This record gives sequence, C-alpha cells and structure tokens, in this order.
Amino acid sequence: MELPAFKRHRRLRGNEAMRGLVRETELSVKHLVFPLFIEAGLHGRQPIRSMPGQDRLGVDALGAEAKSLAELKVPAVLLFGLPATKDELGSGAYARDGIVQESIARLKDANPELLVIGDVCLCEYTSHGHCGPLLPDGSVDNDAALPLLAETAVSLAEAGCDIIAPSDMMDGRVGVIRRALDSAGFTGSPILSYAAKFSSAFYGPFRDAADSAPAFGDRRGYQMDPANRRMALDEVATDLAEGADMVMVKPALPYLDVLRQVRDRVDVPVAAYNVRGEYSMLMAAIQNGWLDEPRAIDEALTSIRRAGADIVITYHAKQWAARQ
Ligand SMILES: [Zn+2]
Repeated sequence: MELPAFKRHRRLRGNEAMRGLVRETELSVKHLVFPLFIEAGLHGRQPIRSMPGQDRLGVDALGAEAKSLAELKVPAVLLFGLPATKDELGSGAYARDGIVQESIARLKDANPELLVIGDVCLCEYTSHGHCGPLLPDGSVDNDAALPLLAETAVSLAEAGCDIIAPSDMMDGRVGVIRRALDSAGFTGSPILSYAAKFSSAFYGPFRDAADSAPAFGDRRGYQMDPANRRMALDEVATDLAEGADMVMVKPALPYLDVLRQVRDRVDVPVAAYNVRGEYSMLMAAIQNGWLDEPRAIDEALTSIRRAGADIVITYHAKQWAARQ
C-alpha cells in the first residue's frame, strides 16, 4: 500500500548533531547579565529567602563576586543599591559616595573586563519608596524627578558605570539623562532604557531583595498596565526618539509577545529582564522536584532569546554559566 507523500518533519530531529545543525536560537553566556543587590553596612553575603541561590552582597563581598563572574565568563552585571538611609528626595541615589557608586570601583578592581550597568531610579533611596519626589496629593512629581535622575546617571558614569539604565518610567527622562551625560563629558556612555516596564506582580517579593516597596499606593501611575501591548511600542518609540541606545522589556516571560513585537519594530539591541518572581517561581518548582532544573531553566531562557532579546538579564546567569 502506498503512503501519501506527507512531509516528514522528524527527519531533522533524529539525533543531537542534526538538531544542533538546524537549531535557530542559541543561548550563550555572552548575552547574559547578572543582577546584584548591594547592601550598605552588610558584611559578606545574606541569602535572599524567596530567591534560593541568590544573596544580597556587602561591599566587601564584591571582589570575590567579580572574580567568580570572570571565571564563569558572565560579561555584565546590573547593580541595585540598598542604602543605609533614605529620604524624601532619594539623595542616596546620586550621592558621590553612594552605595552603587562605591561598589563600581570594587568590581572593576577585581574584574576590569566586567561591564557594569547602573540602574537609575530613586525608589530604593526614597523614604516613601516611589520612583520620584511626591506632590502634595501623594502622586509622583514627574518633572521634579527628572533632574534627580539625570544627576544619578552622571554620578554613576563618573563612578565608572559602563551603561546607564533608567528604570523609573518618568516621561522625558531619557532625553534629560542624555543631555546631562553629554554635558558632563560622557558622550560615550550608552543608555539602556527600561522602555516597556510593566506594573507587575512578578517584581515581588520586593522586601526580600531590595527594600523598595512603596510605603503607600503602588506604581500603576507610572509603570505600564500589563494589558497593553501597543502602548509598549509607543514607550519604546519615545525612548528611542529621546536618544536611548538600547531598550528593555520587563518582565520577560509573561511579556514575550511584547518582546517579539518590539524586536520586529526596532533595529537597536533589545534587552529583557527575567525578574525576581519569574526566578522564584521556577526555583520553587525545581526545589519541590516538580520541574527538572537544567531543562526548565534552559527552556525559559531560550524562549526569551527566541522572542527576540539580544540581552537577557537573569538571576539564573551564574547557575546557567556554571553548567556550560
Ligand atoms: Zn523605581
């Protein structure tokens, strides 16, 4: 009996060499960024309970951390600071001796090749936990935040930060930061803007990692509504028009459709941030034996690359690199 001439897709899946030959998406450590939480006054490392395998670091732990990143060939870190004191204006964010500013030299001393990305926002440094100064009605004063964000960006560049990454979602901030960097002589410092940053439940649990949960209200007045995809494209277009060199979508896994559309729409490098909640969710299932560690993590990270991310910011970076 003659079979119909159907296409045999399985011809290209028979063994690993064949699968490797036709694989469309590669995951490489070269594209990974590892986020670091650096806490003022902490000595050594403090495990983050809800993020198994992740620690907050004291400044004294950064040399060893930078060396371990070099051994693993992880090329870049994204820095978040947990300051000793906070105030209404978030002045710790732009203090010349701020926690992140001081940390950059420690990292670079131990690993001069390491690319340092500085998160630019005020929420970790404000007493109220919002991303800018407040108006009397309790909402964030967009235009009053801009010069403070610009000052933060310049102070990070002065401290040796390689890439400036504004995450605040204030309107106009990329342009203001670009002009401030240029007039301070940092014309060569690229901006990676958190262009499409959604107001996400996956940033939790904040308290464990960076003490930046707002004291009241939430960030829905400035971060994006999870339901909006077209609006994300508009945010990206605005940041590029203001001078962003690269754009980010955050979070990653619940927003792969947005990531793909941004990738198709723009020609600059696109980053995706695989956030705390995405990490915790996967690690909880792995620790319970419900998911297989190497395969689940590989698949999650590959999906982010396949959706169009050039750069993947992920807490899995070191674990993944250690297995290669
Ligand atoms: Zn913020």
